[in-house]
Amino acid sequence: MAQYDVVIIGGGPGGYNGAIRAGQLGLKTAIVEGRGKLGGTCLNVGCMPSKALLHASEMFEAASGGEFAKLGIEVKPKLNLSQMMAQKAESVEALTKGVEFLMKKNKVDYIKGWGRIDGPGKVVVKAEDGTETVLETKNIVIATGSEPTPLPGVTVDNQRIVDSTGALSLPEAPKSLIVVGAGVIGLELGSVWKRLGAEVTVVEFLDRILPGTDTEVANAFQKILGKQGFKFKLASKVTGAAAGDKQVKLTLEPVAGGDAETLQADYVLVAIGRRPFTQGLGLETVGIVPDKRGVIANDHYKTTAPGVWVIGDVTSGPMLAHKAEDEAVACMELIAGKAGHVNYDIIPGVIYTKPEVATVGKTEEDLKAAGVAYKVGKFPFLANSRAKINHETDGFVKVLADAKTDRILGAHAVGPNVGDMIAEICVAMEFGGSSEDVARTCHPHPTRAEAFRQAAMGVEGWTMQA
Ligand SMILES: Cc1cc2nc3c(=O)[nH]c(=O)nc-3n(C[C@H](O)[C@H](O)[C@H](O)COP(=O)(O)OP(=O)(O)OC[C@H]3O[C@@H](n4cnc5c(N)ncnc54)[C@H](O)[C@@H]3O)c2cc1C
Repeated sequence: MAQYDVVIIGGGPGGYNGAIRAGQLGLKTAIVEGRGKLGGTCLNVGCMPSKALLHASEMFEAASGGEFAKLGIEVKPKLNLSQMMAQKAESVEALTKGVEFLMKKNKVDYIKGWGRIDGPGKVVVKAEDGTETVLETKNIVIATGSEPTPLPGVTVDNQRIVDSTGALSLPEAPKSLIVVGAGVIGLELGSVWKRLGAEVTVVEFLDRILPGTDTEVANAFQKILGKQGFKFKLASKVTGAAAGDKQVKLTLEPVAGGDAETLQADYVLVAIGRRPFTQGLGLETVGIVPDKRGVIANDHYKTTAPGVWVIGDVTSGPMLAHKAEDEAVACMELIAGKAGHVNYDIIPGVIYTKPEVATVGKTEEDLKAAGVAYKVGKFPFLANSRAKINHETDGFVKVLADAKTDRILGAHAVGPNVGDMIAEICVAMEFGGSSEDVARTCHPHPTRAEAFRQAAMGVEGWTMQA
């Protein structure tokens, strides 16, 4: 029987990054993955394929929607959806193979099959052919991730009514698409199909898009999406969906009460969130009881069962790949007797639309609710020379800092490439930096990053270029 220091169940960003770190720390490690490929939701049906389609559709729209022509490039693009899907699949395949290579490099055993805990220190792995392997281990790490949350009254068939996985592989560019849920995944995938020609209507239960995001940024973003042609039906509750051969009829009613309405579209994407995945995991054999939402609680990644740890989407906190990755590192360091730690105040969130949305730290609403006195510095991309020259002037950056100490408490932005640039604020915050630290740091010119500097200057009222 194989003996390990750590057996990780789940090969997503939590699992595979954990395996790499465990290998680096000299722990004898195995990673168990049931889907036949490493990389989890993120590489196979999440972050990476969505970004592949966002990039390709952005290029298509730039070529067909007038942006190229404005720059003096005249082309007549034609959509080749199967090639767009093929390049996505090729990139995903290369990434999953890369992760497999990293397992070998770090001397991690990759065991294919579905794992289940079978009492303390024991994991049984069932391979595709039905054979079972028993692994004995000092530590079990649960990294089984999440799955789409179902919507009562609406059956996802992944034909006409799709979840995010189905929406990443539609067989045709729809003429019309209804997205249920105005969160990150719905708006990203809605953008993909919008750019490829679909009329997109977003139906949301709440009276705003992107709940939890800084309200000013979310409202500005909604306006920008509106200009792009997105239609929104907010404060609307979906009550049912009937899929025909070519179209879906979706019924909804106002949350506040009122007349029901029927919308019709070629496809409906249900993107109302994700829930932890623990099916068949044998949690009962070690006495772990997830909460009502299926979340396995943790205390510094320890579950209630000795020797069983939990990281990533299946435990509390934002369902993000980089959060899973950071927890993985901290968890392995704790297992190895080191001081693993994650700073949950500095976990950025990005929406990879055009323009992008990026946020980190506290929102204005958070600070008001906590009674924290703060100052705001803002800068519009309209006044940023690089954005202006590139015709990408939608959006702004906002930096929030403590009114007394000037320590940065959060930053929120909508605009070109803000997803990459928010990392500068993350680093500043991690060092306990002030708005003045960012404002007095020399930034290269001309870059969009200067917008962050100018916003930071604005905290003390000396924004120079607007
Ligand atoms: C469309 C979409 C786009 C996204 N875009 C982004 C993004 O841009 N940025 C971002 O940060 N996040 C994004 N996410 C979220 C991100 O994918 C998740 O937060 C991340 O994958 C979580 O990592 P994880 O390791 O916890 O779980 P997962 O990636 O879900 O991996 C868990 C793995 O465990 C396996 N597994 C489960 N049970 C067992 C078992 N019993 N035995 C063996 N294997 C098992 C599963 O097959 C799966 O491969 C996106 C998600 C979706 C759906």
